Amino acid sequence: MTGTKIVIVGAGAAGLTAAKELRRLEQNFILLEASHRIGGRAYTEVLAPNMPFDLGAHWIMEPSKNPLMRLAERYRLRLEKDGKHYTAGRYFEDGGWLPKGSERDLGAYWDKQFEAMAQAIKGHQDISVYDAIDNDNRWAGYFHALYAKDNTRDVDQASAEDALAFVREEDDLAVASGLGTLMIRYSQGVPVMLNTAVRSVDYSGSRLKLNTAKGRIHADKVILTVSNGVLASQGIEFKPALPNWKLDAIQGLPLGSHTRVALMFDKAVLHELPAYFTINTSKEGPIHFRNQPFGNDYVEIVMGGRVAEWLEKSGQRATVEFVLAKLRDVLGSKAVPYPTHHIVSAWNGDEWAKGAYSCAQPGAADQRSILAQAIDNRIYFAGEATSSTAYASIHGACISGRDAARAAAT
Ligand SMILES: Cc1cc2nc3c(=O)[nH]c(=O)nc-3n(C[C@H](O)[C@H](O)[C@H](O)COP(=O)(O)OP(=O)(O)OC[C@H]3O[C@@H](n4cnc5c(N)ncnc54)[C@H](O)[C@@H]3O)c2cc1C
Repeated sequence: MTGTKIVIVGAGAAGLTAAKELRRLEQNFILLEASHRIGGRAYTEVLAPNMPFDLGAHWIMEPSKNPLMRLAERYRLRLEKDGKHYTAGRYFEDGGWLPKGSERDLGAYWDKQFEAMAQAIKGHQDISVYDAIDNDNRWAGYFHALYAKDNTRDVDQASAEDALAFVREEDDLAVASGLGTLMIRYSQGVPVMLNTAVRSVDYSGSRLKLNTAKGRIHADKVILTVSNGVLASQGIEFKPALPNWKLDAIQGLPLGSHTRVALMFDKAVLHELPAYFTINTSKEGPIHFRNQPFGNDYVEIVMGGRVAEWLEKSGQRATVEFVLAKLRDVLGSKAVPYPTHHIVSAWNGDEWAKGAYSCAQPGAADQRSILAQAIDNRIYFAGEATSSTAYASIHGACISGRDAARAAAT
């Protein structure tokens, strides 16, 4: 049996930041991580030799508020700016590319839908994104697919109030060597106990008792940074059970699906394609591609919502075939061979994530601040889902971890 003042559960962006803050405040803590690795939903894999690929978080959002940006600058890492895909991309449907300039029409429609959402909920109850927008527009199908891609749930499952609450002021930046790799640099010097899942938190007595894969730990306080998917699936047992107001918050902020795929070809396959494009040739709706990131010979495909959930269940091979079929719709079947390398993410099936990132149910946007509330001044909650204005992001998770550490240290 071990004892400490504060236990942090989870070594992702929130947990690592909480640990750094507690160290700065000279507090005694232990950081426990269930999996064999650090970084949580920031994880870089290898697509091919010397070709890193982010299976999880990829873009440094809000660089000025993002501690990873400072690190990227310190190490002079190679960065690429987001190509503003809604205004710079091309769209393929009905056997051809839509004329250049169409992307501006989509961009204008896109902005109007956010205005429509703001009008729809002004002085009224929160509603779904679908119920707030103009679904008869020629661009509505693109909005539905691209919204689900970025937000993990389809427009009828997502809160309009939550959509409007996210603060986005700066351009995103991607790191050539991978955001997951950068997160490992960020963790340097932070002591982490790996392979140490927390199974239960008993807060019935004067000290907390945490039952872990490596024995029992006593503590005064705990900072939980596990994903809301883990909390919702009752991956950690609480004794006594969590109060209903906390359970409601957990249920209101489900993690949806967001799949990242890369297909690597001989350069000849890709060089005719635009930097960003969306193929709309089947009943599954528009599918978005980013071509040759950092000048490498692969396409990145990102999908979200029900189509991503269905593809993850179908398996990696089916996902690759699905995406290949789209490319063949554009280039012809002979021009697109099977990729030389491929990689497909699968966050729903990850035991320690149980989904990609949170998206509030209609009517549940206010649950984020409730999810962030501590219980009994002893059980603190941090992580992306607890951020009201920067959920689903690395910087939101980091800020929540810092704030929880400050609160727990008092
Ligand atoms: C595919 C995908 C793409 C994304 N793209 C971006 C992007 O481009 N930019 C961006 O800013 N954000 C992006 N995000 C979101 C970003 O990855 C998350 O918001 C952020 O990583 C969450 O950090 P966290 O610390 O809250 O949670 P996590 O990273 O999930 O960390 C929680 C940790 O807790 C551990 N854990 C779970 N259960 C237990 C247990 N019982 N005991 C001990 N440890 C446990 C987990 O293993 C994990 O390491 C993306 C996410 C995904 C999945």
